[in-house]
Amino acid sequence: KRKIAVLTSGGDSAGMNAAVRAVVRAGIARGCDVFAVYEGYQGLVDGGNLIKKMSWNDVRGFLEVGGTSIGTARCMPFKQRPGRLQAAEHLVSRGIDSIVVCGGDGSLTGADVFRSEWPGLLDELLANKRITEEQHKSHRYLTIVGLVGSIDNDMSSTDITIGAYTSLARICESVDSIASTAISHSRAFVVEVMGRHCGWLALMAAISTGADFVFLPEKPPSDDDWQTAMCDRLTRRRALGKRNTLVIVAEGALDKNLNPIKPEQIKDILSDRMGLDTRVTTLGHVQRGGSPVAYDRYLATVQGVEAVEAVLRATPETPSPMIGMSQNKVTWRPLMKAVELTHAVATAIGNKDFEKATELRDSEFKL
Ligand code: ATP
Repeated sequence: KRKIAVLTSGGDSAGMNAAVRAVVRAGIARGCDVFAVYEGYQGLVDGGNLIKKMSWNDVRGFLEVGGTSIGTARCMPFKQRPGRLQAAEHLVSRGIDSIVVCGGDGSLTGADVFRSEWPGLLDELLANKRITEEQHKSHRYLTIVGLVGSIDNDMSSTDITIGAYTSLARICESVDSIASTAISHSRAFVVEVMGRHCGWLALMAAISTGADFVFLPEKPPSDDDWQTAMCDRLTRRRALGKRNTLVIVAEGALDKNLNPIKPEQIKDILSDRMGLDTRVTTLGHVQRGGSPVAYDRYLATVQGVEAVEAVLRATPETPSPMIGMSQNKVTWRPLMKAVELTHAVATAIGNKDFEKATELRDSEFKL
């Protein structure tokens, strides 16, 4: 009988609960025991009642609840081998042989590091008499499956991550509210949205709300005098009768000279050059989302079911899979390749090499 642990790690995103529910219920339906690990990797390291066997009813009502009800954390001890050794002991003592991790690239890297140390960790536990010969023998293999939970949609090898559409929906609702007050007072608003080095949320929000201008990390403005170009465009729109002006700035946005752009800078330009009554809104943590939109519930559910399938079909030879989505089909991709590509894209953007970043993003389809 397979014993599967499910945990959520890193920043929370809407739909993580739906993923946990799907893993628990699909696992039980397929004859497995399923354990929830509370507080991310901290729960693995600490053990005790942070690792709890789940029943069908334990995840009742999880679908519509935002964030993650089993908790998440950033866990420093798991980054060190002694912490992972302790985690291994807690798994083995409960007979757990597989872990489904729902998190961002950091969490999935951690999962693969853990697997790569197997069975060395077991050997060390046996040498220190922390597990028995029998436990050592019956836990030769550890199966890891990754689900990508992130509002940023910044993971390679998947079209979309769990939580991104909910975050986008909340941003659009907030921008719509801002637009109505902006129209009333004929004001300009500069709205900063999350996404770290990835402009997906900002670009999608700009398209979905009909923003006048958007600043992204991956595509800095091309005009030498981008300030004048932006003001000209906004002025033309105002001349057409538009009473509000909306500029969206991604948190990692860059200017022509590849320096960070901050919303206050844009506000000063709009106020000083165009004489617009301009306000800045930083949406902040409302963007984490709250109750997931239907798509995130669906995505997390089909991917959670697939994660259990991946556990059951895993062999010691196959690399850990990451469950993704490509052209509306659920996919399995090698987890470490997806993580490596994600880091390579982030590095290329960090080095301001946007061509390389695009080339790397396109290359994922050849994996
Ligand atoms: P987000 O996208 O929201 O930042 P994330 O999963 O990338 O999510 P991180 O803070 O990078 O978030 O990682 C979450 C946790 O995963 C860390 O606190 C740590 O416990 C574990 N982790 C990350 N990287 C490693 C690693 N290289 N080795 C072992 N564990 C790691």
